[in-house]
Amino acid sequence: MENAQIIDGKALAVEVRAQVAQRVAALLKSHGITPGLAVVLVGEDPASSVYVRNKGKQTVAVGMASFEHKLSADTSQSDVLKLVKKLNADPTVHGILVQLPLPAQIDDDAVIQAIDPAKDVDGFHAINAGRLMIGQPALVPCTPVGCVLLAKKALGDLSGAHAVVVGRSNIVGKPVGQLLLQENCTVTTCHSRTRDLPSVTASGDILIAAVGRPEMVKGDWIKPGACVIDVGINRIKGENGKSKLVGDVDFAEAVKVAGSITPVPGGVGPMTIACLLRNTLSAARAIEGLDPE
Ligand code: NDP
Repeated sequence: MENAQIIDGKALAVEVRAQVAQRVAALLKSHGITPGLAVVLVGEDPASSVYVRNKGKQTVAVGMASFEHKLSADTSQSDVLKLVKKLNADPTVHGILVQLPLPAQIDDDAVIQAIDPAKDVDGFHAINAGRLMIGQPALVPCTPVGCVLLAKKALGDLSGAHAVVVGRSNIVGKPVGQLLLQENCTVTTCHSRTRDLPSVTASGDILIAAVGRPEMVKGDWIKPGACVIDVGINRIKGENGKSKLVGDVDFAEAVKVAGSITPVPGGVGPMTIACLLRNTLSAARAIEGLDPE
């Protein structure tokens, strides 16, 4: 069998960002509005710091305003909540993202639920999760949106496909399942208690792996010709002793069986920030009384 088509997340992210930039420019011209994204980082976790810096750069590159709030690692929960309240009330801020995880003294969920749902561009607030569930317009978590855009890039219409999602987190597994239902897929969600996981995954026309276990999904877990979207980001030691990034799918095996597959890195990862910018634009339009599109 031929090797799978590689779904290029970097290239698709460039397309999404270009569309956002065009629409941001149009919004400024027609209504004089510049969407603003505020990112809150508590502490100095190196991975989070890199991620926040990239978000800031890409926000500015699409013509939006970026506001970075860096707080020290010992900041109290009430101080973070005060900042969120201030950002909720700030008319130049249309999107608020609090970088997770927060230091141990702060309850992640208390902070997320304090964000105005209209500005919750991560889509983690209970109101947005509920709206997604009942099919109302919502701000939807960025990584799941990226997964569905990648699957559509490879397959076009997803209607009627059997989509198997491995993972049921609130951040990836559950929302991606909801989005796939909206695309008229038949959705099976798997998790750590699923019996005979390989035979379930092998029945998926679309397989989404969001587990956090390096290279867990083997070639014979995959239906020949399936579209495989690998959300996992795992750092392992390579053969030369240097650390390298791998997904939740054994890429070398999977690429020989799948019809299309996202690489790690360069697949789902780059789509996440692009979808965050898309959400920020939608939030700005909705807050300003325009069709969020
Ligand atoms: P969580 O740890 O929150 O969830 C993992 C899920 O996988 C759980 O539902 C768990 O089941 C399930 N699981 C764990 N072990 C097994 C197993 N052996 N068999 C079947 N299911 C299993 O992770 P996230 O959803 O937050 O993230 C998943 C992966 O995606 C991680 O590698 C993360 O780094 C990556 N990620 C990547 C992003 C990107 O931008 N590309 C963004 C977000 C995450 P149970 O519920 O039963 O415990």
